Amino acid sequence: MTQVGEMIRQMYINGKWVEAKSGKTFKVINPATGETVAELPDGGAEDARLAINTAHEAFKSWSRVSPVERSRSLEKAFKLMTERRDELAKLITLENGKPFEEAKKEVAFGAGYFDWFAGEARRVYGDVIPSPAGSRRFWMIRQPVGVVAAITPWNFPATMITRKIAPALAAGCTVVLKPAEQTPLTALAITKILHDVGLPPGVLNVVTTLYPEEIGKEFLRNPLVRKIGFTGSTEVGKLLMRGAADQLKRVSFELGGNAPFIIFEDADFDAAVDGAVGMKYLRVAGQSCICANRIYVQESIAERFTKAYVEKVKGIKVGHGFEPGVVIGPLINKDTLEKVDRLVQDAVKKGAKVATGGGRLKEAAFAKGYFYAPTVLTNVTEEMGVTREEIFGPVAPILTFRTEGEVIERANNTNYGLASYVFTKDLGRVFRITEALEYGLVGVNDAAGYGHETPFGGFKESGLGREGGKEGIEEYTEAKSIVVNLPQ
Ligand code: ADP
Repeated sequence: MTQVGEMIRQMYINGKWVEAKSGKTFKVINPATGETVAELPDGGAEDARLAINTAHEAFKSWSRVSPVERSRSLEKAFKLMTERRDELAKLITLENGKPFEEAKKEVAFGAGYFDWFAGEARRVYGDVIPSPAGSRRFWMIRQPVGVVAAITPWNFPATMITRKIAPALAAGCTVVLKPAEQTPLTALAITKILHDVGLPPGVLNVVTTLYPEEIGKEFLRNPLVRKIGFTGSTEVGKLLMRGAADQLKRVSFELGGNAPFIIFEDADFDAAVDGAVGMKYLRVAGQSCICANRIYVQESIAERFTKAYVEKVKGIKVGHGFEPGVVIGPLINKDTLEKVDRLVQDAVKKGAKVATGGGRLKEAAFAKGYFYAPTVLTNVTEEMGVTREEIFGPVAPILTFRTEGEVIERANNTNYGLASYVFTKDLGRVFRITEALEYGLVGVNDAAGYGHETPFGGFKESGLGREGGKEGIEEYTEAKSIVVNLPQ
């Protein structure tokens, strides 16, 4: 097994590395080999309570630290995370499975949120509001919301954390983080960075657990938690929102997606093929909520596109993340593998054709991991689950369309609304279609996704609120209006 310099095996509460109160532990598994990578504290409600109390105490001083000073802490975190890129990337490959090269890119991008929000920390502007009466004055200030509970998924073990904690800390909030049970090691390594840059005790706390429900319940019932930032499935998002209603806790959710990837006959053909490969397969083996889930190709170029696409997909190297040249690693676990296969088999039963792939990889090298063959399906219709559900795996369903109006309607016909992509050279169409698509992100001739500078989030059941951009920090603030009656 690849050695990592420093692997932290404890949770972090009030500036100290600690075990779970219960003394219980759980195993972190390498999805490529099934081997145990580490054993970590299996925290429960009591640990979460302690972390919340600590964060509440720390909030009293952290919220008063000057924005410049908070900004400096984040700048230092950016630098240290950049220095530790390879070390973090190793942990990601070990616990998440994604190829090492991809993991390095993730760490660099994740670190970028510290950089971006270091700047934003200094720009939490209020407003001076013209008053209608000469005897009164109005203004508005933005203040940190309080203790934030952050719940993050396993697919981007670094980015999903920095995208939440960087704006929260920048705004003056304190945080209790509960990382995904599959990828807690990266979370702890990022925490160590903040510890090393001298973040005061209690400002960031991390509770690891195998049983997220228990911690989630404590987050919901504890009145000291003012805000829940969550990235994960729409199903769990709804559950948290119902629970948050009791105390009207603030929520920011980034949930599931069902991204259409639309290619018109006038598109730059090669760019469209490459984009559709990249946004389907080369982001954690398709396990990203912005991955292309339905590829719509205009009928006149469908045959040519499918041929070129399948050719490229056949050339994709699957394997263990540390093996040179590998661009697709394993899926995260057995459940995900089985779900992906169920969607493929269901589509085939309903008439889809497998152009390449179509099943689990069973050769000896893959035997102990959760590897699925990069798969392309043709003859796909919207009656198939593979186009209605979020696939979260390396499976590309190709559908064809005739007109712009038709494809817009079909693309929008889903409860999700996170990301969408369009390839075309027609300028008028770019305006029409970007305005008509009901998605939080529209990539035009672009399959690289969002940036630190852009607000990211979903329409419909894909989420609430935005992360990144100038909007990202506002999510961690409350607007307070101050009205002053002048002495006469
Ligand atoms: P996925 O299916 O991608 O793993 P989940 O929504 O199940 O997505 O998980 C995303 C995050 O939510 C993880 O950190 C997980 O531990 C957490 N989680 C799952 N169920 C709950 C729950 N009932 N309460 C709080 N957090 C939960």
